Amino acid sequence: MERKLLDRRAFVSGSVALALSQNLRARGQFGRHTPVEFSQTVQAGSSRLQIDFAHGEFALGRVAVIDRIEAAAKAVTTYYGRFPVSLARVLVIPEAGESGVLQGTTWGDIGGFPAFLRLRIGEDVTAQELASDWIITHELVHTALADLSDDQHWLEEGIASYVEPIARVQTGQLDAAAMWAGMMDGMVNGEPEAGDRGLDRTHTWGRTYWGGAMFCLVADVGIRRATANRKGLQDALRAIVDAGGTINTDWPLAKLLEIADRATKTDVLSTMYAKWSGTPVEVDLPQL
Ligand SMILES: [Zn+2]
Repeated sequence: MERKLLDRRAFVSGSVALALSQNLRARGQFGRHTPVEFSQTVQAGSSRLQIDFAHGEFALGRVAVIDRIEAAAKAVTTYYGRFPVSLARVLVIPEAGESGVLQGTTWGDIGGFPAFLRLRIGEDVTAQELASDWIITHELVHTALADLSDDQHWLEEGIASYVEPIARVQTGQLDAAAMWAGMMDGMVNGEPEAGDRGLDRTHTWGRTYWGGAMFCLVADVGIRRATANRKGLQDALRAIVDAGGTINTDWPLAKLLEIADRATKTDVLSTMYAKWSGTPVEVDLPQL
């Protein structure tokens, strides 16, 4: 979600990885049985993260990677008021000859863990790459929403894409001006193209990630307008977590939207979903 080439490339590779991960999911191969060489459990609020490392050596050492995962967990804990699930397992797979945080995938309710994240990180990852990484935070945000059907995958990705930079801003890990610049730059990718249908029907990369993020932005503004700026999307999403609608559940979306709307005493999310899921909605982003 940051505006640098590196991040945009990572975003694209994320969508390729998404297709890959769906293949892996279909075959039931999560990499979760990969042998673990080192394990450390850290606290995130009152929750625990078990961080497991597969074979490999980071030039910076494992502690730098653990610190970055903790910082990402802190951002998510700050945004939601708590870490979304009581226990998560994070499997770190070091990739030889590579640099950067390369890719992440998150599943719910795997192997006795409410959430399971698999992260691929280059063994030559630099301190700067870790400090500016968005992928780990994005993946941890996924723990905060129930596992939805494939047609509604855009909402999972939209929330993760929209919340990630805000959560980092709220913890001082990202500059607010940089966040807005990134949204200005990227959000246009979410606009419907000719022939596109509603978000439940058109599953391109742009509509899934940025179309979903655009839905969140418009919902956030809508809730703020309806409540004289007393409530926002953050209140709605916190209510879902508080009710237990996290990644280890498969609650229907209607139930999640009802919980979220009740928290803001509006019908912004239900009304928007009814419209955006079935028809292409254009947003005047420069005006907004
Ligand atoms: Zn994602």
